[in-house]
Amino acid sequence: MPDHIPAAAGGPAVGVLSLQGDVIEHFRALESAGARPLRVRRPGELDQVDGLVIPGGESTTIWKLAEIFELTEPLRKRISGGMPVFGSCAGMIMLADRLLDGIAGQETLGGIDMTVRRNAFGRQVDSFEADIPLTGVPGPALRAVFIRAPWVEETGPEVEILGADPGTGRIVAVRQGPALATAFHPELTGDLRVHKLFVDMVRDRI
Ligand code: GLN
Repeated sequence: MPDHIPAAAGGPAVGVLSLQGDVIEHFRALESAGARPLRVRRPGELDQVDGLVIPGGESTTIWKLAEIFELTEPLRKRISGGMPVFGSCAGMIMLADRLLDGIAGQETLGGIDMTVRRNAFGRQVDSFEADIPLTGVPGPALRAVFIRAPWVEETGPEVEILGADPGTGRIVAVRQGPALATAFHPELTGDLRVHKLFVDMVRDRI
């Protein structure tokens, strides 16, 4: 973790799972969206937060490190206990109840009744951008950045579909109660609307 993360401001305490991935980008977006970001690498740090972001990065690495840091069971407990959680890209993979195209031994934390296919857009195009109207996000379509992104292949009855990629029609944003996931990276564009939605979800639960 770099030292130049700004000092915590006010707002709800929102952790960022800080094992691997674009942690600093989520820190900045959360702070701009009115939250107090905290890094989470230890179970004791997880106890301090009202909500959690699981960043984009590499889900296989995040999973392995979460096991090494003995975070998987504490994370599963908080998520199943209703802690608001937002996963972007690799974070979406971590929140899937069912995973396709994971590597041997890769598990997920679960929390959203969905099947996610890892690296699903990979063979067509590795990275791309699209404008996606999102349910629950007011204003114009959101510029969505996809980087070796997953898609959602199937959802259970409790899952609200928030958005789909216009090119493929695939589901790329979902919500189930206090759990939110996007296949793309709102933390990379400077558009704070998804982070604001999540910070509101955290405030609603405090
Ligand atoms: N392909 C990555 C994975 O499997 C996700 C990519 C990302 O988070 N940008 O975790």
